[in-house]
Amino acid sequence: ERLNNDFQFIEVGRVDPKKVPAKKRKKEFQEIYHPFKQEEAASQAHRCLHCGNPYCEWKCPVHNYIPNWLQLVSEGNLLEAAELCHQTNSLPEVCGRVCPQDRLCEGACTLNDGFGAVTIGSVEKYITDTAFALGWRPDLSHVKWTDKKVAVIGAGPAGLGCADILARNGVKPVVFDRYPEIGGLLTFGIPEFKLEKSVMTRRREIFESMGVEFRLSTEVGKDVLLEDIIEDYDAVFMGMGTYTYMKGGFPGEELPGVYDALPYLVSNVDRRLGFSATDSEFIDMKGKRVVVLGGGDTAMDCNRTAIRQQAASVTCAYRRDEENMPGSRREVANAKEEGVKFMFNRQPIAIIGEDQVEGVKVVQTRLGEPDENGRQRPEVVAGSEEVIPADAVLVAFGFRPSPADWFNKLEVGIDDSGRVTAPEESEFPFQTSNKKIFAGGDMVRGSDLVVTAIWEGRQAAEGILDFLDV
Ligand code: FAD
Ligand code: SF4
Repeated sequence: ERLNNDFQFIEVGRVDPKKVPAKKRKKEFQEIYHPFKQEEAASQAHRCLHCGNPYCEWKCPVHNYIPNWLQLVSEGNLLEAAELCHQTNSLPEVCGRVCPQDRLCEGACTLNDGFGAVTIGSVEKYITDTAFALGWRPDLSHVKWTDKKVAVIGAGPAGLGCADILARNGVKPVVFDRYPEIGGLLTFGIPEFKLEKSVMTRRREIFESMGVEFRLSTEVGKDVLLEDIIEDYDAVFMGMGTYTYMKGGFPGEELPGVYDALPYLVSNVDRRLGFSATDSEFIDMKGKRVVVLGGGDTAMDCNRTAIRQQAASVTCAYRRDEENMPGSRREVANAKEEGVKFMFNRQPIAIIGEDQVEGVKVVQTRLGEPDENGRQRPEVVAGSEEVIPADAVLVAFGFRPSPADWFNKLEVGIDDSGRVTAPEESEFPFQTSNKKIFAGGDMVRGSDLVVTAIWEGRQAAEGILDFLDV
């Protein structure tokens, strides 16, 4: 029942869902946040002011109807809230868990100014998880299926967002992925303490019941050729992500004991899910002094995975200060609680060691003039070199696009940095220079966020529907 008090936000402060204590959670690969109870979700949702101009909605990349579903939750209309969540978002339960809300919806909440933003992400997760547990499913019974079918390459958030909209409009999506499970980085990159894998398994079953077909463990370009797909389908969507690891460009990066972040995280997921990861593929940090280089989401995930693998110590070196870290503040705080040591304003200049990593040589930095993106450039402090001792180093400097060799042959244009060119503002949004092929997500915008990939996949599907005149 809706609490009859419009000044609820003064009497009821922001309360985040409870967390498993750090001492316990650092030993397990499980989500660290407990779910909201019904009364908690209702009273937190009721804190929303319903301000005339919902900044949260604008700042949310998929433009969720946030104040509307908060109101439905505060009134106890959970299933209506679930329906509304799905009108704008293909994976609300995932976004509720992994969006950096402090930089998006919650950062823009009017109450963020001193009162504490509404816990939008946790309510979004609550709505979807609870509705699914009650047996609610997206209703596609009204859909009239056309005779069109579209191939979707990549079952990450961009591909899934695209498949969702296609199915809802009666166009059969067939999704190809080289991995044995859907989700892309949601399954194979982001660790279980942020997103348990059962969430994606449940989503696969839901998508299948909506008429989406998955062809998993199938690599396009190897197991099946794109030329053949183009022949067989009315249009193609590519959401293949970015998988070229950025290097630091300093000496010692090739030493044994230095690993790229993603293969490290993937080997841990593979091992835990029982997919592959033979003993030689599995990278184990047990008992090691680990240094993680970088300050984004991937670096945080490496830090916290190494802690859970019982590393002797985990030190994260980042070249700017804490204020300027690119990732979610929530995850930095969680990493600190779990025992990660941060060294801010440190830039690596070499990895040292004879036949194996022995340490990372860093210099101190201070922030200087802003660069072209307005972020202050780190400048080196003279004479500040030091060595952080290490048995293993994880390099998490981000990703560059990985254009396939067949793009050129099929006239799929790319820009100077290798991103596929597929403009949002065009007659058919996200169409590439090959008219039958659309693209979106990290491979178009460069590595970014789950929610922006979902948005692009959904918008590209709208472009495909127009193109097919459905
Ligand atoms: P992907 O998720 O990369 O999916 C691409 C899919 O395409 C993959 O499944 C791949 O197997 C498949 N594929 C590629 N080539 C082929 C082929 N030839 N044939 C068949 N299949 C193919 N974002 C957040 O918002 N919050 C976070 O907390 C967060 N944490 C992150 C942590 C890590 C470790 C990493 C690496 C990223 C994180 N991100 C986070 C970013 C986010 O995961 C990505 O921006 C998002 O997954 C991009 O979606 P996508 O669909 O474009 O690509
Ligand atoms: Fe916030 Fe992300 Fe949900 Fe949008 S999708 S409301 S940004 S948590």
